[in-house]
Amino acid sequence: MHINVHYAIGVVVASISHYFLNLNLIEYSLIIFCAFIIDFDIVFSKYDKDNNHRNLITHSIWPGSVMLLVGLILLYPLIVICGAVLIIHILIDTFDWGINLFYTGKTIGVRLLISREEEKNIKEILSNYKVGHSFFVFRYYGSKGFVSVEVIVFVLMMIANIFLAVEFWYLVLPYFFFFGFHFYEYKKLKNIENS
Ligand SMILES: [Zn+2]
Repeated sequence: MHINVHYAIGVVVASISHYFLNLNLIEYSLIIFCAFIIDFDIVFSKYDKDNNHRNLITHSIWPGSVMLLVGLILLYPLIVICGAVLIIHILIDTFDWGINLFYTGKTIGVRLLISREEEKNIKEILSNYKVGHSFFVFRYYGSKGFVSVEVIVFVLMMIANIFLAVEFWYLVLPYFFFFGFHFYEYKKLKNIENS
């Protein structure tokens, strides 16, 4: 899902963790950071043959699993939680387009936004758009289910932050930046496709 959703889930997990572990600012921020940072592997997209960052090892189950294991061995709760949020990010990404989950080259996931048929004809489908990326963006925001999840996760983030970690209220602000990035992209592509 979009990076703002991952960010919001990071805030939820960090806020619940804060309730139990009384985290400091750096620890609270670190959990949120681990929830969204792997989406920045998009800058390494060129290293995948399909230029898809979700095929890179960073978007597989392994980095989170290693971190989780290290945390368990060291009995260090913060590392365990960071490993868990990395894995949560990966599992969430299996629901929309799927990912190279085990880094075996096979895209795995529920893949609610694309059918097998569409995947086979993806080149033809993308050629119907002025910008191929429009297909993915319109499909995402055109899905009532995904838009509903966006809203629910946003509300959960606000509730968790206000009731469990209000001293870190300002750490919800980057959410709006990430949401704005995706929404601006959507509006821009709408204009291009309608022009
Ligand atoms: Zn992702």
